[in-house]
Amino acid sequence: MKWNVRTLFTGEREELPIQDTLDLSGLEWSGEHPLVKPVFVHGAVTGAGSIVVLRCTVEYTFEGSCDRCLAHFSRGGTLEAEHLLILSEADSEDENAIVVGDSYELDLDDVVQTDLCLEMPIKRLCKPDCKGLCPRCGADLNEGECACEGSETDPRLEALRQLLQ
Ligand SMILES: [Zn+2]
Ligand SMILES: [Zn+2]
Repeated sequence: MKWNVRTLFTGEREELPIQDTLDLSGLEWSGEHPLVKPVFVHGAVTGAGSIVVLRCTVEYTFEGSCDRCLAHFSRGGTLEAEHLLILSEADSEDENAIVVGDSYELDLDDVVQTDLCLEMPIKRLCKPDCKGLCPRCGADLNEGECACEGSETDPRLEALRQLLQ
Protein backbone atom coordinates (compact mmCIF):
# COMPACT_ATOMS: atom_id res chain seq x y z
CA MET A 1 0.00 0.00 0.00
CA LYS A 2 1.09 3.58 -0.67
CA TRP A 3 1.01 6.02 2.21
CA ASN A 4 0.82 9.75 1.68
CA VAL A 5 3.24 11.43 4.08
CA ARG A 6 2.82 15.03 2.93
CA THR A 7 1.33 16.29 6.23
CA LEU A 8 4.46 15.17 8.08
CA PHE A 9 6.67 17.28 5.86
CA THR A 10 4.41 20.31 6.17
CA GLY A 11 4.23 19.88 9.94
CA GLU A 12 0.45 19.50 9.96
CA ARG A 13 0.89 16.29 11.88
CA GLU A 14 3.72 14.78 13.87
CA GLU A 15 2.80 11.15 13.63
CA LEU A 16 1.13 8.88 11.14
CA PRO A 17 0.49 5.39 12.49
CA ILE A 18 1.24 2.68 9.96
CA GLN A 19 -0.49 -0.66 9.87
CA ASP A 20 -0.47 -2.73 6.73
CA THR A 21 -0.69 -6.27 5.47
CA LEU A 22 1.44 -6.79 2.40
CA ASP A 23 1.21 -9.42 -0.27
CA LEU A 24 4.80 -10.10 -1.29
CA SER A 25 4.05 -13.58 -2.61
CA GLY A 26 5.33 -12.55 -6.05
CA LEU A 27 8.84 -12.01 -4.74
CA GLU A 28 11.25 -14.54 -6.16
CA TRP A 29 14.39 -15.58 -4.36
CA SER A 30 16.73 -18.31 -5.61
CA GLY A 31 13.98 -19.77 -7.74
CA GLU A 32 11.41 -19.93 -4.93
CA HIS A 33 8.74 -17.67 -3.51
CA PRO A 34 9.71 -17.36 0.16
CA LEU A 35 7.01 -14.89 1.21
CA VAL A 36 3.79 -16.63 0.23
CA LYS A 37 2.21 -15.79 3.60
CA PRO A 38 1.03 -12.20 4.26
CA VAL A 39 3.61 -9.83 5.71
CA PHE A 40 2.42 -7.65 8.60
CA VAL A 41 3.82 -4.18 9.12
CA HIS A 42 3.14 -1.88 12.05
CA GLY A 43 4.83 1.27 13.15
CA ALA A 44 4.68 4.96 12.42
CA VAL A 45 6.05 7.78 10.37
CA THR A 46 7.07 10.63 12.65
CA GLY A 47 7.98 14.15 11.73
CA ALA A 48 10.04 16.60 13.74
CA GLY A 49 10.83 19.69 11.73
CA SER A 50 12.25 18.56 8.42
CA ILE A 51 13.25 15.15 9.74
CA VAL A 52 10.66 12.58 8.78
CA VAL A 53 11.34 9.00 9.77
CA LEU A 54 9.60 5.68 9.17
CA ARG A 55 9.99 3.16 11.97
CA CYS A 56 8.22 -0.15 11.70
CA THR A 57 8.23 -3.76 12.69
CA VAL A 58 7.84 -6.29 9.91
CA GLU A 59 6.51 -9.75 10.73
CA TYR A 60 7.12 -12.31 8.04
CA THR A 61 7.11 -16.04 7.42
CA PHE A 62 9.91 -17.39 5.33
CA GLU A 63 9.12 -20.56 3.38
CA GLY A 64 11.53 -22.62 1.40
CA SER A 65 13.19 -25.94 0.73
CA CYS A 66 16.20 -26.85 2.82
CA ASP A 67 19.43 -26.79 0.81
CA ARG A 68 20.69 -29.88 2.65
CA CYS A 69 17.72 -32.21 3.21
CA LEU A 70 15.26 -30.70 0.67
CA ALA A 71 12.47 -30.65 3.26
CA HIS A 72 9.98 -27.82 3.05
CA PHE A 73 10.21 -25.50 6.03
CA SER A 74 8.50 -22.41 7.29
CA ARG A 75 10.04 -19.99 9.76
CA GLY A 76 8.63 -16.80 11.22
CA GLY A 77 10.76 -13.75 11.78
CA THR A 78 10.58 -10.08 12.65
CA LEU A 79 12.56 -7.19 11.31
CA GLU A 80 12.87 -3.70 12.75
CA ALA A 81 13.12 -1.18 9.95
CA GLU A 82 14.03 2.47 10.18
CA HIS A 83 14.33 4.85 7.26
CA LEU A 84 14.73 8.54 6.88
CA LEU A 85 12.21 9.88 4.35
CA ILE A 86 13.43 12.57 1.99
CA LEU A 87 11.95 14.54 -0.88
CA SER A 88 14.88 14.19 -3.25
CA GLU A 89 18.21 12.37 -3.45
CA ALA A 90 19.99 15.64 -2.75
CA ASP A 91 18.42 15.93 0.72
CA SER A 92 20.54 13.28 2.38
CA GLU A 93 23.58 11.09 1.89
CA ASP A 94 22.00 8.35 3.98
CA GLU A 95 21.94 5.26 1.74
CA ASN A 96 18.92 3.90 3.60
CA ALA A 97 16.88 7.03 3.04
CA ILE A 98 13.71 6.67 1.00
CA VAL A 99 12.92 9.29 -1.60
CA VAL A 100 9.19 10.07 -1.60
CA GLY A 101 9.38 12.80 -4.22
CA ASP A 102 6.78 15.39 -5.18
CA SER A 103 3.92 12.96 -4.70
CA TYR A 104 4.88 12.45 -1.03
CA GLU A 105 4.02 8.81 -1.52
CA LEU A 106 5.69 6.16 0.56
CA ASP A 107 5.50 2.82 -1.22
CA LEU A 108 5.58 0.52 1.79
CA ASP A 109 5.55 -2.68 -0.30
CA ASP A 110 8.68 -1.57 -2.07
CA VAL A 111 10.50 -0.52 1.11
CA VAL A 112 9.65 -3.71 3.01
CA GLN A 113 10.46 -5.95 0.06
CA THR A 114 13.91 -4.40 -0.26
CA ASP A 115 14.54 -4.75 3.49
CA LEU A 116 13.42 -8.37 3.50
CA CYS A 117 15.69 -9.24 0.57
CA LEU A 118 18.64 -8.18 2.71
CA GLU A 119 17.43 -10.55 5.43
CA MET A 120 17.26 -13.59 3.19
CA PRO A 121 19.71 -16.28 4.22
CA ILE A 122 22.45 -17.20 1.75
CA LYS A 123 21.94 -20.83 2.71
CA ARG A 124 18.39 -22.01 3.26
CA LEU A 125 18.40 -24.51 6.07
CA CYS A 126 15.41 -26.09 7.83
CA LYS A 127 17.47 -25.75 11.04
CA PRO A 128 21.06 -24.58 11.63
CA ASP A 129 22.36 -28.09 12.34
CA CYS A 130 20.47 -29.93 9.60
CA LYS A 131 22.33 -33.18 8.92
CA GLY A 132 21.15 -33.37 5.32
CA LEU A 133 20.73 -36.46 3.22
CA CYS A 134 23.05 -39.45 3.07
CA PRO A 135 25.08 -39.07 -0.14
CA ARG A 136 24.88 -42.84 -0.68
CA CYS A 137 21.26 -43.84 -0.04
CA GLY A 138 19.53 -40.48 0.14
CA ALA A 139 18.05 -41.11 3.59
CA ASP A 140 17.22 -38.07 5.70
CA LEU A 141 19.91 -38.18 8.39
CA ASN A 142 17.84 -35.93 10.67
CA GLU A 143 15.56 -38.91 11.20
CA GLY A 144 18.42 -41.16 12.30
CA GLU A 145 21.39 -42.94 10.88
CA CYS A 146 20.82 -44.88 7.71
CA ALA A 147 21.91 -48.44 6.98
CA CYS A 148 25.06 -47.39 5.10
CA GLU A 149 26.31 -45.51 8.13
CA GLY A 150 26.06 -48.67 10.25
CA SER A 151 27.72 -50.92 7.69
CA GLU A 152 30.77 -48.68 7.70
CA THR A 153 31.36 -49.28 11.38
CA ASP A 154 34.05 -51.81 12.08
CA PRO A 155 32.30 -54.74 13.81
CA ARG A 156 35.22 -55.14 16.24
CA LEU A 157 34.89 -51.53 17.35
CA GLU A 158 31.15 -51.96 17.66
CA ALA A 159 31.67 -54.95 20.00
CA LEU A 160 34.08 -52.91 22.08
CA ARG A 161 31.62 -50.00 22.23
CA GLN A 162 28.89 -52.30 23.52
CA LEU A 163 31.25 -53.72 26.09
CA LEU A 164 32.03 -50.28 27.43
CA GLN A 165 28.39 -49.25 27.74
ZN1 LIG B 1 17.23 -29.64 6.32
ZN1 LIG C 1 22.78 -43.96 3.65
